Amino acid sequence: MICDDISINRSYVYAEARPCKIQTCKYNCAFWFCDIAGAADTGGKRRVQLEKTEVVIESGKVNNVGGDMAGAAVPDSSTTTTTVPTEPEKPVIIPMLVNKENVMSADFVPVNIVEIGKSVKGTPTIKLNATVLEAYKVMYADIKEADVTVPSIISGYRSYAKQKQLYDKKVAQYGPGQKVTAAPGPSEHQYSACIDISTDGTCQNNFGELDIGKWIAQNSYKYGFVVRYPVDKKELTGINFEPWHIRYVGVEHATYMYEHSLCLEEYVVYLRETYPDAVDEQSPDDFPAPRWAGDLGE
Ligand SMILES: [Zn+2]
Repeated sequence: MICDDISINRSYVYAEARPCKIQTCKYNCAFWFCDIAGAADTGGKRRVQLEKTEVVIESGKVNNVGGDMAGAAVPDSSTTTTTVPTEPEKPVIIPMLVNKENVMSADFVPVNIVEIGKSVKGTPTIKLNATVLEAYKVMYADIKEADVTVPSIISGYRSYAKQKQLYDKKVAQYGPGQKVTAAPGPSEHQYSACIDISTDGTCQNNFGELDIGKWIAQNSYKYGFVVRYPVDKKELTGINFEPWHIRYVGVEHATYMYEHSLCLEEYVVYLRETYPDAVDEQSPDDFPAPRWAGDLGE
């Protein structure tokens, strides 16, 4: 229970806490806090505020202060060192582009897939990439606080066979030129990077006009998601406007795409031109760790 609570709570890192890195506790929950470097600036203490739990990081020790985290993430070490080796700069990772020109192979089966359970609204047996689910839980907690209709997850990871079944059905319904459902190869659902959400259990064409649809369009980037098939990018994506289909790319990528109104097809070109040393995301294992844009000081 401890981990469930933490994973859906944003962590606010105090102003001096830069850069941040992810820390995983022994219960495998993840939250953000500053590194120890520079701790001397604050008298050896850094404070990290979780929603209901306050943690004081004291030069290598993490102690619970009045919350329900007793025993969690408490290293044995009582070292007083204040230095942390500088991490080498990591190359930019270009999110995997899945579309008609860049198809998934039929035998691609992602690892790290989990059922959504009861932590978010939706059919509990729907499967998602574990990182994507963690990011969604953070967003979900804020959706519940916002004055909007709380959506359900209606689709996540879909196998090649399942996608083919859906595609064949739509082709029978609308003909081979239909742009409603992606063919099995070009589907992001097979890659496990995306989620379909809804307020009535179906893919709603008017989702973008609903309060939650507007909220998603304006805020999902803060949690690492983008509306993958924007209304004005149909020619580039090859897919009709799908306000319900959100793709996880991580906060940094999502923020840039949002601020510059870029779809993934455009953004990948931009990254390749701007960062010649960038590397391609190989699998969902390369997904950026979930974090919240507020942690970036933006
Ligand atoms: Zn979808």
